[in-house]
Amino acid sequence: MKMEAAEIKKALQMEAKRLKIDKIGFASAEPFTELKERLKRHREAGFESGFEEPDLDKRTDPRKILPEARSIIAIALAYPTKMEQPPVSKPGAYRGVFCRASWGEDYHNVLKRKLEGLKAKLLELVPGAAATVMVDTGALSDRAVAERAGIGWSGKNTSIITPEFGSWVYLGEMITDVHLPPDQPVTEACGDCTACLDACPTGALVAPGQLNSRACLAYLTQTKGFLAPEYRDLLGGYLYGFETCQAVCPYNRKKNFTHHEEFTPDPEKVRPLLKPLLQLSNREFRERFGSMAGSWRGKKPIQRNAIIALGRFRDRTAVPDLIRLLKEDPRPVIRGTAAWALGRIGGPEAADALSLAGKTERDQKVKEEIEKALDECRGEETANHRTYREA
Ligand code: SF4
Repeated sequence: MKMEAAEIKKALQMEAKRLKIDKIGFASAEPFTELKERLKRHREAGFESGFEEPDLDKRTDPRKILPEARSIIAIALAYPTKMEQPPVSKPGAYRGVFCRASWGEDYHNVLKRKLEGLKAKLLELVPGAAATVMVDTGALSDRAVAERAGIGWSGKNTSIITPEFGSWVYLGEMITDVHLPPDQPVTEACGDCTACLDACPTGALVAPGQLNSRACLAYLTQTKGFLAPEYRDLLGGYLYGFETCQAVCPYNRKKNFTHHEEFTPDPEKVRPLLKPLLQLSNREFRERFGSMAGSWRGKKPIQRNAIIALGRFRDRTAVPDLIRLLKEDPRPVIRGTAAWALGRIGGPEAADALSLAGKTERDQKVKEEIEKALDECRGEETANHRTYREA
């Protein structure tokens, strides 16, 4: 006997519970017309990161992905925000930070498994149904789907905020040709709060709900080129991601959900010592960090950010490693960033190495970094000399 849509929905909600899915919501698969207009304006303003699906139709019309689409099932999984015993960063043994969304096993895999479980249930209930699962890297906007399906509202920080778990949730969805009764969207509840806009160190949140991705530190930690100098001091030890706009949100206060074992962080991976990161081979990097979401861009951005953190901490014990990179690393971004860090740390050993490297360096951008770093070392020397004479 054919099941009613409401019965199928009920059975999927029960299956979601069994699969330990924290939230499930249902939405129609109509095109996201208003979103398309917003994305166009976003593109025209130059605010895209470049990681997005370029085809706006695919991003806003579920039928471009599944032509017979009628419904979308959205899910959310809460992730932890606190470590039981976080390792301590200290002089000579400074540590970097992977954002919480990179803790534990790569969430793409975890959510896909849950969605595949739901899909199996759907096929059992409706044999021959069509369904496609997506997590983050699919064309469709996870956030727009979650909003329409009543998972949460879109906060001024552009995150989906759920009443139960705040914005510390991963999102995923399944498009299907089965009609399922839609849920009501959650009412927006940011109110007069502007905490995330006020706290963003780069002003990347240019207006409520509008993010200039090019100035967002979470995005910038994932780029592979030189990090613009004005952002280097703002990273605060982050190697991957950045989450100030979530950390200050009142809806995230005291939220820490540890019930998904897969997301339990390994403290040594998510707060790794910085200096050993500079020595890692590709194989070692894959073995150590390959299962984390934060490894998707490879080791170069992580190493570049580790060098920036060492410079920012003015870690003198890192000088020999940084000199080695400046002299020997084949990647201009790494040599140039090492030069910047040496300039920031200063001292005669750093100044001598910079001076020597300046004579043989061929890459124009690295040469410029060396020049600026030497200026910084000289400035420090003059300041020290003046202090000595005045004493
Ligand atoms: Fe909304 Fe305030 Fe949270 Fe920003 S910090 S998302 S304005 S509630």
